[in-house]
Amino acid sequence: MIKSHAIVLHRYAYSDSSWIVKALTEECGIVSFIVKGGKRKESPFKGALDPLALSEVVFRQNPNTELQFVKEATLLDWHKDMREDLLKTAKAQVMTEIVLRYAPAGVPLEGEFSLLENALAALSLPANNAPDIKPPADNAPESKPSESVFADIKPSADNTSSIFARWLLDICDLWGYTLDMHTCSRCGHPIEGAPADFHPETGAFVCNSCLGVESPRARKETLDGFYALRTGNGDIAHPEFTENALLAYLRNHIGFLREINSLKFLNEARKL
Ligand SMILES: [Zn+2]
Repeated sequence: MIKSHAIVLHRYAYSDSSWIVKALTEECGIVSFIVKGGKRKESPFKGALDPLALSEVVFRQNPNTELQFVKEATLLDWHKDMREDLLKTAKAQVMTEIVLRYAPAGVPLEGEFSLLENALAALSLPANNAPDIKPPADNAPESKPSESVFADIKPSADNTSSIFARWLLDICDLWGYTLDMHTCSRCGHPIEGAPADFHPETGAFVCNSCLGVESPRARKETLDGFYALRTGNGDIAHPEFTENALLAYLRNHIGFLREINSLKFLNEARKL
């Protein structure tokens, strides 16, 4: 019997009452479970096998079948705060879909598990945990509940803004496509400050003197985002540009056979 932490990557209906659940387990990589009666209200698993949930599962791994039976599943973190935010949920879905479709099959995936677990946990921190938000002043009107005071304060950049881009960078690294943000691909010298250009086909960064009078192909927002990732200061004002550059880089290296379905949802959520 195996007992392992697991993150639910995907779930689909198998019959009127059953699910097939694909989960990234800490011990055994990606495992497919059949959950008979999982759709029923009185299912003992409740939220533990919902997509994006972190749970502890107990199962026996039968090598003769693709589908394993779950004996127990205990919910550890449903990521409630992340689910209340459409954009964060969309980013989480793209991460889980990339792992599901492109992580190597049939091997333990401790690195992938740990990166995904950390990213989901970071996306689930309540927004008012942001360190740059000051508590309301003592002379705030008493009639105003403190929650609405917090709601009025918007940090200039969301402290969770870099999580998805950081995860993409780390997954590139883990899968052997490490990006060298410190070195100019043309002259080989260290890059001071933000890179002057980035080529998603090759992952090459270019320094200011090598770019010279050429116009960069990458947008300023993309390059600023890479600089923020490199310095580790966290905030990215427009993370979608850097995220898209990293997705394009990953696509060039892995060769996505089909479009990542959840990217459509992410692009819709970004417009809101
Ligand atoms: Zn250079």
